[in-house]
Amino acid sequence: MDVDTLVRWLSPSKVAMLGRCEHQFFRHYLLGENKPPSAAMAFGSAFDDAVSNGCMEGIASGEVTKADSLKEIFQWTWEMGQLEVEDWRDEKPGPMLDQGVALIGNWREKIGEGIHPTSVQARLKRDFPDTGWGVEGVVDVTFCRDSGPEIVADTKTTARAWRSADARALKKTPAKAFSSLQVPCYSILTGLPVFEFHVCTRGKRPDIDVIQVPIVGQKWKEGYLAIVARARQKIKDCAASGSWMPTAWMSGHFLCSRRWCGWWKICEETFGGTRPE
Ligand code: SF4
Repeated sequence: MDVDTLVRWLSPSKVAMLGRCEHQFFRHYLLGENKPPSAAMAFGSAFDDAVSNGCMEGIASGEVTKADSLKEIFQWTWEMGQLEVEDWRDEKPGPMLDQGVALIGNWREKIGEGIHPTSVQARLKRDFPDTGWGVEGVVDVTFCRDSGPEIVADTKTTARAWRSADARALKKTPAKAFSSLQVPCYSILTGLPVFEFHVCTRGKRPDIDVIQVPIVGQKWKEGYLAIVARARQKIKDCAASGSWMPTAWMSGHFLCSRRWCGWWKICEETFGGTRPE
């Protein structure tokens, strides 16, 4: 993709990747390289697919897909998706299948029951006239509960049970603690006043935590647009100089590791030094 097209609309995931590592951004978005997903990423995709399928049926028929069918959908998508995983590290496909089946059943009971989906995986864009740029994002799902307001929701999967301190911090300032990019961006894109994170924890005791974020104020939206403007300038500067630094490597970011980044081997050979695996 050329730089002008790339900076025309920036999404939270592009901005987050650029902020984490210029080099990863360059390889993924400019060179169009894709690396095999980690087991955790493949699990998250399969789970998202099952949720999306369930909500699409909810739009068509008025009721989210029943748990037994959702479990089958998860199984199919997981069995296909896990074929792409090359490095399983300490995970195994069989136990992850069992965890996913249990977790999607839990999702159906705790989230799917009683919601009325209104959109699924909607790619939304908003232009700002006269600026020549805008913002974009893919919204997992929007829905209503009975007579309540329309809500925009994002599903997260995690392997680790939330420690109580994490959960408390998240509930106190959810957008700040968990993600400061998606909430204001999706609020700008949808105009909806309520945002929910559905934190789905796999493991021995699958669990779903619903974290509702209050109405996003104008200050957050302006803050997000300022971050996007800086990201646009950063991309242009890097492209002009031809220098895309391994910033995650240099800062020691925890996602810069063999487990989480498919370019880890290349970077180790290219940039040298040692990083924890
Ligand atoms: S291994 Fe680290 S420095 Fe290299 S692309 Fe990945 S995150 Fe960036």
